[in-house]
Amino acid sequence: NFFCKELPKIELHAHLNGSLSQATMLQLQRYYVDAGISDKTNTFLDEFQIGAGDTRNLSECFQVFSIAHSLTSTSEALVMATELTLQEFQEDGCCYIELRSTPRDTQYITKKQYIDSIIRAMEKPSINLSIISKLIISINRASQLQEVEEIADIAIERHKIHPDTVVGIELSGNPAVGNFGDFIPALNRARQSGLKVTLHCGEVCNPEEVLEMLNFKPERIGHGVCIHPKYGGTEETWIALCQSKIPVEVCLTSNVNTKITPDYESHHFKELIEAGLPVVLCTDDKGVFATSLSQEYRLCAESFGLTRIQVAKLSLDAAQYIFSEANIRELIIGKILKFMNDYAS
Ligand code: 5GP
Repeated sequence: NFFCKELPKIELHAHLNGSLSQATMLQLQRYYVDAGISDKTNTFLDEFQIGAGDTRNLSECFQVFSIAHSLTSTSEALVMATELTLQEFQEDGCCYIELRSTPRDTQYITKKQYIDSIIRAMEKPSINLSIISKLIISINRASQLQEVEEIADIAIERHKIHPDTVVGIELSGNPAVGNFGDFIPALNRARQSGLKVTLHCGEVCNPEEVLEMLNFKPERIGHGVCIHPKYGGTEETWIALCQSKIPVEVCLTSNVNTKITPDYESHHFKELIEAGLPVVLCTDDKGVFATSLSQEYRLCAESFGLTRIQVAKLSLDAAQYIFSEANIRELIIGKILKFMNDYAS
């Protein structure tokens, strides 16, 4: 446990609103009370967490995000939510994070202001925060096409102004909704402007969509559950993934708690590793699933009998798949190697 916490780690799949801890949500509630926005004080925080025995189905799980959304509707709240979340990842031993979030128009701010608030929190000089943080802008699959184009425009524009902070674009939201093909034009535009792409892929059984997504050649995919034939994929989808060698952002607890995967031991992490595919351990929604990145590393080590060297190697390899430039990669590789050397001596 201590080893997994101390090991410098890389988080590449964390949704801001799903990452809010109970402590952060309580601080945000207090902010809304102090700001005189009292309708935010009675949100039901208890319903936010989804444990292993939860009876909610995948679609119902998506409803919990509205609880977090009610607490991130102003610029100040978003800055606070981002800072507190980054702080928690740092305290858990994370040295680099690509946080993602879906811009929303709220009662108080526009989508642009939403994104600018997160960027402000990330770029603010702080003596408390040494974690390197980057932003991936999310598109929700339930969005109308006009909104999809609008979000792509914002991502392109903000990437131009903040190229070192806004590094990617991604597709998420309820996988039972929308068609991947509809998002290709917007994603292509974003990609041409220099943004990297990651897609939630294979969360539900949909081999045609998985093939379409892999053909698009995203820089990474999230989850990748229903790709191997054992987990709802086909021979074709599995071969396509193996040939593509696209890194998979693996979210163990998220998959178990939303019942996409029956238990940790039967997680497709095993097949991915055995096939020599690149994987990155991630939290997905550490607040919703009451987990942490170090806990995901520990659970992975326990479930698949990994040695400490193998665990450290997972973090080291993750550095290859970040969306930032080579100088940042070298910096974090240096941190991880130093930890490994110090640990060995
Ligand atoms: P936000 O983008 O508002 O910061 O974070 C919450 C949003 O991320 C959710 O509303 C949903 O669109 C997306 N999200 C969070 N977890 C998951 C997940 O496990 N699968 C998918 N497909 N989307 C998710």
